[in-house]
Amino acid sequence: MKNNKKKNRKMNLVNVMAVSALLLSIPVSTASAKAIDTVNVVGGKEKLIINFKDDVNEKEKSQIKREGKIKRNLELINAVSMEIDSEKVEQLKKNPNVKSIEPDIKLNIAQSIGYGQEGVNAPESWSSGLTGKGTKVAVIDSGVSTHPDLIVSGGQSFVDYTNSYADDNGHGTHVSGIISAENNDIGVVGVAPDSDIFALKAMDQYGSGYLSDIIEAIDWSVANNMDVINMSLGTTQASSALKSAVNKAYQNGILVVAAAGNESSSVNYPAKYSSVIAVSATDENNKLAYFSNYGQEVEVSAPGTNILSTSSLGDYENMSGTSMATPFVAGQLSLLKELDPTYTAVQLREELHKNVLDLGTAGKDKFYGYGLIQAPVKSVNPEESEVVSTPVTPSNFKATKVTNRYVTLNWDSIDNATYYQVTRDNVVVYKGSNLTFTDTSVSRYKTYLYKIVAGNESGTGDSASITVKTR
Ligand code: CA
Ligand code: CA
Repeated sequence: MKNNKKKNRKMNLVNVMAVSALLLSIPVSTASAKAIDTVNVVGGKEKLIINFKDDVNEKEKSQIKREGKIKRNLELINAVSMEIDSEKVEQLKKNPNVKSIEPDIKLNIAQSIGYGQEGVNAPESWSSGLTGKGTKVAVIDSGVSTHPDLIVSGGQSFVDYTNSYADDNGHGTHVSGIISAENNDIGVVGVAPDSDIFALKAMDQYGSGYLSDIIEAIDWSVANNMDVINMSLGTTQASSALKSAVNKAYQNGILVVAAAGNESSSVNYPAKYSSVIAVSATDENNKLAYFSNYGQEVEVSAPGTNILSTSSLGDYENMSGTSMATPFVAGQLSLLKELDPTYTAVQLREELHKNVLDLGTAGKDKFYGYGLIQAPVKSVNPEESEVVSTPVTPSNFKATKVTNRYVTLNWDSIDNATYYQVTRDNVVVYKGSNLTFTDTSVSRYKTYLYKIVAGNESGTGDSASITVKTR
């Protein structure tokens, strides 16, 4: 077995640009505020906060402090935190200089919703009732560790050195949190918090894995009726075996999503194959992340810089990479699947293309694909919702002010339009509901082609265009 495997190519996790372990020191236990009276550990130690009475002097405090090991003097509140033998606690409570004793409990940070979730419209999708419930996502990665903010529905190890799918690298746990961290009161929230994730460990502790193990994990995904396969991994080398495997998965109705890669170069495999949804990464400003690969194969883009998610140590950390963008798309596919459970993989892929914010040049492009994914919103009464016609072409589109530094454009309002989109030489420069836009990114003595379309939920109408020469 081992010798056979040596002949196989190893693939790498599409890494993590800066595993800038900006580790937040978040206590992971749900450390409940147990009443001190219920703690009866014979011979044990307890971490306690002793509150002194107001009129206690330093000498009296010192006597109490000698009863245990001092952690901190809490001068602000006239108290001390200490570790005390359990059997001494009752005695101490009766001490006339002690006002009260309470456990030194652990607190958790409130659940935060990152720019990524905001940027892909996830909170609005959750509010409308979509959470990915009933969808199954296979995470082919370094495994997934036990974490208080994650539920793993199952999985398997495909590496030869362990039968456990626990994560010995950290990558798979982070990816899984982006898809499906629980919507509770701790940590972070995944894009599809109620989707079921399955940990398929095919990558080792160093972030690489054999092609053969990955193919076995794809086979498992087909056999176990997964809806989505997340592969935040890749290689620059083409492989007919890998191509056949992802094709088989797609033919079996599984949406396969993979990272474009982080070399600021062409798209990696398997993302490059047409049966796979290739994902590029955007940053906080909706620009292509500096490291993201790109090319005509890029299908959609998603947030991929400084993404806070679950760590394999049980807390949370920031990571960057197309590895982080890919699970946003896996979550998005879960939401789309939940919205239209009868849709085939091919239909869901079309829905993926439609639910985007167009970035860069108008329409599909090599950096953002169809655009930045936007989580779907379930309408309350789909039967009652009327079919809205697309808006007509904006009239009176003209430049009302032209200087050497800016161009001000105006147009007339259209009744059923919810937004207008202006492009300069086919690059989107404005999208919104105003009836005017001033373009300050122009140079003098240049000729620009401006186009405008009006849009609403049904799409956009035909464009109007003007040519403007700056002074
Ligand atoms: Ca959470
Ligand atoms: Ca575009």
